[in-house]
Formats: sequence, C-alpha cells, structure tokens
Amino acid sequence: MIAVRKGKTKITIDYSKCGPDGVMDPRECTKCLKQCDRPVFHLHHVIVDGDDPWDPSYWQVTPVYTSQCTRCMRCIEVCPVNAISVSW
Ligand code: SF4
Ligand code: SF4
Repeated sequence: MIAVRKGKTKITIDYSKCGPDGVMDPRECTKCLKQCDRPVFHLHHVIVDGDDPWDPSYWQVTPVYTSQCTRCMRCIEVCPVNAISVSW
C-alpha cells in the first residue's frame, strides 16, 4: 500500500554534485532511480552553455513527478554525494 502524503513535496538535486558540472555523472550512478519505487526521477540529456552545448556527455537527473513521492528518503540514503534533498 502506498502511503498518502499531504502537502506538496519539494525535491531538489544539487547539480554541482551530480550532473553536467558535478563530481558525479548520473549515468555512472543511477542509485536514486533504482531505489525509488515510484516514478519520480527522470534521467535525461541536457543542453548547456559552452563551446559544445550538444555535447552528448551532459546528463542529469530531474525530479519530475514529485507528487508521486512517498517521502521514504531512500534516495537520500543511497546518494553517494548527498546531492538530493526532500522537503515539504
Ligand atoms: S523519498 Fe522515496 S519516494 Fe521520494 S523520491 Fe526519494 S526514494 Fe522516491
Ligand atoms: S543517487 Fe545521487 S549521485 Fe547517484 S544519480 Fe542520483 S542524484 Fe546522482
């Protein structure tokens, strides 16, 4: 049974820790995506400012469907660089 959570959940990713400019390439980790049993996160390519905005190595995780979050905090526990925060 999925727990019902009241109020809006805010999930943020610190892209200085995981993302195109971060210390972690999310494609080499994906722990948050594997741990979350809800369709919250999306791993996708991004276009950034710079010499080659279309560089295929630019990827990030975006919390898209935050209303699906059950606030279990497993994503925070498994993130190796503490890039995720969940609040409400
Ligand atoms: S807190 Fe739980 S449900 Fe919410 S995004 Fe993280 S792993 Fe998914
Ligand atoms: S668990 Fe953390 S480091 Fe790994 S992909 Fe998710 S946000 Fe990035």
